[in-house]
Amino acid sequence: MNDLTRKFISWSQSLNEEVVCPICGRENYELGHQKTFSQTVQSQEFTWMMKVAICQDCGMIFVNPQPSDETLEVWYGGYSKVEEVSPRFSRAQLDFLEAVIPEGFCSLFDVGAYDGTFVVEARSRGYKAGGLEASAQAVAMARQRYGLNLEHGYFGADYLAEKGETYDLVSVRHVLEHTKDPVGFLTQATSLTDRYLFVEVPDIERAFFDNLSDIFFSLEHLLYFTRGSLTNSAARAGMKVVAFDQPPTVKGELPVIRCLLRKEGSPCGVEDVVNFSEESRAILSAYRQKRETLTQAIRRKIPTGEVVIYGAGMHTAYLLQSGVLEGIRVVSIVDSNPSLHGETMAGVKILPPGSLTDSTATVLISSYAAQEEICRSLRECYPQVNAIRLYDEVLDYLYP
Ligand SMILES: [Zn+2]
Repeated sequence: MNDLTRKFISWSQSLNEEVVCPICGRENYELGHQKTFSQTVQSQEFTWMMKVAICQDCGMIFVNPQPSDETLEVWYGGYSKVEEVSPRFSRAQLDFLEAVIPEGFCSLFDVGAYDGTFVVEARSRGYKAGGLEASAQAVAMARQRYGLNLEHGYFGADYLAEKGETYDLVSVRHVLEHTKDPVGFLTQATSLTDRYLFVEVPDIERAFFDNLSDIFFSLEHLLYFTRGSLTNSAARAGMKVVAFDQPPTVKGELPVIRCLLRKEGSPCGVEDVVNFSEESRAILSAYRQKRETLTQAIRRKIPTGEVVIYGAGMHTAYLLQSGVLEGIRVVSIVDSNPSLHGETMAGVKILPPGSLTDSTATVLISSYAAQEEICRSLRECYPQVNAIRLYDEVLDYLYP
């Protein structure tokens, strides 16, 4: 057993820490959603269930039980990959901030600066900007990509004790959903600013953002925020909401909530937290409904209950994880890449296209970019199979 496999076993077996609501601290929660994850690591298949709870007292949506801190540490240290982020996200975030802070700001500090793109973009607009990042890999990427020196370390009490500097604006972008204690995190982040805090998180209000359901719920995200639960988290940390933005999404990208908070008054107590549980229930129920519509659309297209999937890439990984193929037997996965032949995905063998020679199967083409090309080649080489394009024939049932 290699190191990666061991890490994966540790993750899949460690979703066992029952937690209380991270906003109001109470223990009244109900199951809002559950998702089965499966992942092949070194030809070994791992499957586990993630449960998403809704707090009945404040509406916070959070993973419960959660993985242990040790597991999270191994995960971020080894398995999670750092990828380059397009500068257009940082540009859009700064455009938002410039629009909602009419009096302007001079200095900013990015907590969780990742590859440094935001800091670099802010500096190019004339702001005094710096950032802190926990991942050594990301810090190295910032140096290599931009010649930028980010501070390397974990954000928390120890860091703040040494810091002794404040900024007009502190940004916390795509960090809060990874934490276990958002109120504690925001309270600490607030201590770094005299005025504003900028938060951006994935937007669960628009969870069904893409055609493939359930991509939204990710292994690394322990918390799922709505505008309501962000308002509550901010209030508990002594901040008030100045502005929200839910910008339009681009296909395949996570929808986000942007939120500008202002330091104002003292932190509110648990008794002042507003109950948004009705809203949260409605969000997850609409999500489950859309997912059910998709499952039925797929079933109608595959009446025999058996399918061969063409394409062993990301789209198929999502599709197999999504649960929308429930009740359908995936006979095999076909891909033209010889290096994949003999491997498995979610326990299903990957075969060469030649395996379709004597088959009369329904073939679901699970690729976005290459679907036309695959469809043409199937018609030419294997005219007896019933080829269906996942993207424009199945999923468009939802978006007529
Ligand atoms: Zn709560």
